[in-house]
Amino acid sequence: MLHNEPKIRAQAAIAMGGNVGDVQRTFKRALSRLDKHAEITLLRRSDWIETAAVGGPPGQPDFVNGAIVVETTLSPGALFEVLQGVETHFGRERSAEQHWGPRTLDLDLLLFGDQSMDEEHLTVPHARLAQRRFVLQPLEQVAPDWKVPGLGATVAELLRRLPAECSL
Ligand code: ADP
Ligand code: MG
Repeated sequence: MLHNEPKIRAQAAIAMGGNVGDVQRTFKRALSRLDKHAEITLLRRSDWIETAAVGGPPGQPDFVNGAIVVETTLSPGALFEVLQGVETHFGRERSAEQHWGPRTLDLDLLLFGDQSMDEEHLTVPHARLAQRRFVLQPLEQVAPDWKVPGLGATVAELLRRLPAECSL
């Protein structure tokens, strides 16, 4: 019976970032929203790390960054749509309180099992994963041994390879 087919369970790693409003509170609420989804279970979360904004307008507030691992029966594309919905939910809420500004919440799909894809709106593993310390550092806390498809290295190895001066 088609409707009884077991769904495939996969693990996905997601980066979180934000620099507007009470970011830690937004993160907490975003996580509970994700975890409430029938096809998403939160497995692990990193510490929230404060990082100075790189580039952008001077005087930008520091960022808060983190990473989580979820288990999901969704496809990568469907999970990405859920993430965008959560971003929009919190972004819209904030925009009602102040003029349009930087986003309160950025959710990037970093890794999805051992899968690679390059579609118009979705590249997995995330294209800039290996260059960003603020992504790799929290990701290492939740997925140090995850082998990044296409790069042939684990998250911990990628972080060690990052030049000391590279904070982007
Ligand atoms: P950034 O996350 O780099 O700060 P945005 O959140 O504005 O920037 O995303 C820019 C675009 O990146 C989006 O339009 C999205 O479709 C695309 N994108 C491609 N692959 C991914 C991915 N794995 N996770 C999140 N966004 C992605
Ligand atoms: Mg993004």
